[in-house]
Amino acid sequence: MRPDILFPLFFPVTMLPGIGPRIAKQIAKAAGGQVVDLCWHLPSSLIDRRLAPKIAEAPDGAVATITLTVDAHSPPHNRRLPYRVRCSDETGSLDLVFFHARPDYLKRALPKGETRVVSGRVEYFRGQPQRLQMPHPDHIVPLEERDSLRTVEALYPLCGGLTQKTIGKAIKAALETIPALPEWIEPAFLRQQKWLSWRDSLLALHAPQSEADLDTRALPRLRLAYDEMLASQLTLALTRARYRRLSGRAITGDGQLRHAALAALPFCLTKSQKQALSEITEDMKSTGRMLRLLQGDVGSGKTVIAFLSMLTAAEAGTQAVLMAPTEILARQHMATIVPLAKAAGVDAILLTGREKGKNRRNVLEGLATGETTLAVGTHALFQEDVVFADLSLAVIDEQHRFGVHQRMLLAEKGKGTDVLVMTATPIPRTLTQAAFGDMDVSRLTEKPPGRRPVDTKVLPISRVNEVVSAISRRCAKGERIYWVCPLIDESEDLDLAAASDRYDALCYILGERVGLVHGAMKGKEKDAVLARFVSGEITVLVATTVIEVGIDVPEATMMVVEHAERFGLAQLHQLRGRIGRGQRESLCLLLYAPPLGDVARSRLEILRASDDGFYIAEEDLRLRGAGEVLGTRQSGLPEFHFADLAEHSDLLGVARDDARLILECDPGLGSPRGEALRVLLYLFERDSVVKYARSG
Ligand code: ADP
Ligand code: MG
Repeated sequence: MRPDILFPLFFPVTMLPGIGPRIAKQIAKAAGGQVVDLCWHLPSSLIDRRLAPKIAEAPDGAVATITLTVDAHSPPHNRRLPYRVRCSDETGSLDLVFFHARPDYLKRALPKGETRVVSGRVEYFRGQPQRLQMPHPDHIVPLEERDSLRTVEALYPLCGGLTQKTIGKAIKAALETIPALPEWIEPAFLRQQKWLSWRDSLLALHAPQSEADLDTRALPRLRLAYDEMLASQLTLALTRARYRRLSGRAITGDGQLRHAALAALPFCLTKSQKQALSEITEDMKSTGRMLRLLQGDVGSGKTVIAFLSMLTAAEAGTQAVLMAPTEILARQHMATIVPLAKAAGVDAILLTGREKGKNRRNVLEGLATGETTLAVGTHALFQEDVVFADLSLAVIDEQHRFGVHQRMLLAEKGKGTDVLVMTATPIPRTLTQAAFGDMDVSRLTEKPPGRRPVDTKVLPISRVNEVVSAISRRCAKGERIYWVCPLIDESEDLDLAAASDRYDALCYILGERVGLVHGAMKGKEKDAVLARFVSGEITVLVATTVIEVGIDVPEATMMVVEHAERFGLAQLHQLRGRIGRGQRESLCLLLYAPPLGDVARSRLEILRASDDGFYIAEEDLRLRGAGEVLGTRQSGLPEFHFADLAEHSDLLGVARDDARLILECDPGLGSPRGEALRVLLYLFERDSVVKYARSG
């Protein structure tokens, strides 16, 4: 239950004075529907209205707040001319100028003979100082309100038809309702940082006095960023603590199956593969629950490690499952695993949305009786009727597509099930913390030996004809080529149109050897095209980004990416990982449509110069906001209002340690500070985890 003290913050904005349904709708678009959303809506710039000169002293082009007397109204003779209101003070005169004026409004706002205070940008008409004018003043107020006008005004990002005045007023009204909250930051740390209370920090953020106050490193901003990261780290720590309390079990193998599989592998494990495998084996052996992230670039050999870990589960007489985000990937994992499983003498089955009827029933029965030891599949594995006799290890590939909740769900199909999450998107260290909290991490930092680096070139699309000739030459030598068409407008129809146009053009030149695969195709059709590409019947595969994750065709030696400037760095890096898998030299051509902006140019240059996914990820973070790096929605990264993971990474580490310490001392959040921290969790809408705080 949300604490009473927070109630006013979660009222709908229509509860604020002066906000009716029409404005509320506009506010909802720009900020959100609750009072708290207005508080989180930060100013993006400011306007200084403190300069209050006499008319004769007002500088050309300045923003000024001027007290004056209204002398005369002169409506225009002609609609193209402005409405002028002649005003003056003891030093001179000034015209207020209005285009498309509403005369009745102006007569009311500026009655003849009265004193008014106006604020806005002044200018010399035709460069003449004696002809001062102010077009469309931002504010017109009576004398009593002069002081409240002569301040620095915060300006907010707008959208949905809102005006600055409306949102400014709404935010002011919202801020008037905000309560003082109990302090959740440790007092010594608060003093050391020179931070204000939560409420004062928020008020300060909305009342910037200079550009420096708008900076991401301004003190009030740091405090709120810290609050937000603390809430997020506490959420992760609570989830983790709950997960750990669900007791684990000790899974120990005798190494027999693993030896048999290793003997069947045509290669030796790399040093970091061996390291990761021993970390996983240790975790499984311990009675605690494993929650480990296996991070490694595309092709760094994660699947083999996952499989060898699954064999340990099998040796212990239990079951293990490997879940992939797509059908294609699940099938590919299956293809890798089947020969190795055969060599080790264990049974592996596949379960995806396409297994139906009798086939599916057989699969389910095998899992339920325990006859089947290893399973590979998609989220079809989540379905309620999928029951395991004794699941001890769940491996989840490409973690970003699944939420924390789903991870738990799969683990709950067993008792004390260990979880290994694999991701091929290298995440900068700072972001790993944000996304996964204190999950244990194993990293595969080296490539298997014998890989040739991919030669990467950046070219304008105008050179596409040369590219096509290069393709013909490679085709003649039996090599395979990917041609990647980009996402346009996030609309599948348009993407498809672009890809089909390219397909037609390439067919015209290269004939029958070209294939097309895209997101709108059915699983079976896709697989059929891919199979023809694998067998070499097709040598050029035109594709939308469906090939992004996981497809493994060692003969592929060339990749063309059209509109490379529209892809994220991490995505391009993953795409490129599809080639350079065999012995031959590989070439990646990044085609762009000029003009190329500075950031886009740097990004393509980073990719040209490096093949190290971790380095690329760090650079990507440096060039862009953290959310963008992975595409926040998909990334599993929390979305922040105040915290910017690129700017505040120093605080993230502190928040993480703080969260850990808090739960060590007060796992039930029962102390006075614990109570305050509960308020913090509700404030940032982490309601669902508060119940994980152990009571008593
Ligand atoms: P990832 O899942 O990390 O993308 P995979 O496990 O699919 O990588 O491995 C990519 C390819 O490299 C596979 O064909 C695999 O058999 C091979 N491979 C894995 N480990 C090694 C190694 N140590 N030496 C040589 N080849 C390896
Ligand atoms: Mg893989």
